[in-house]
Amino acid sequence: MQISRRRFVIAAASLASTTLLPTESRADATAVSETDPTAQALGYKTDATRVDKAKYPKYVAGQTCTNCQLYQGKPGAPSGPCPIYGGKLVDSKGWCSAYVKKT
Ligand code: SF4
Repeated sequence: MQISRRRFVIAAASLASTTLLPTESRADATAVSETDPTAQALGYKTDATRVDKAKYPKYVAGQTCTNCQLYQGKPGAPSGPCPIYGGKLVDSKGWCSAYVKKT
């Protein structure tokens, strides 16, 4: 009985460390630069009010990463991961042409 409990504890600790790893990597994630090739291709701006409205007419004032379906940041956080940029951090007030309105 004690051996199986020990195994359980070891397995649980191992699982916990594996589960926590992605969170730690996220904390180390770098911010997406506007000069990043993908960012340039998609017109990413760290401040949505600076979006080139002539080039991206689909942009509507008020759209930001915070209310984009792809944004993975926590509510109130200044930035969060975005899968479009491989999980790098995008500014919560940012925008790019991959924007999908959160429903
Ligand atoms: Fe922001 Fe959405 Fe573009 Fe990602 S896909 S940068 S969350 S607007």
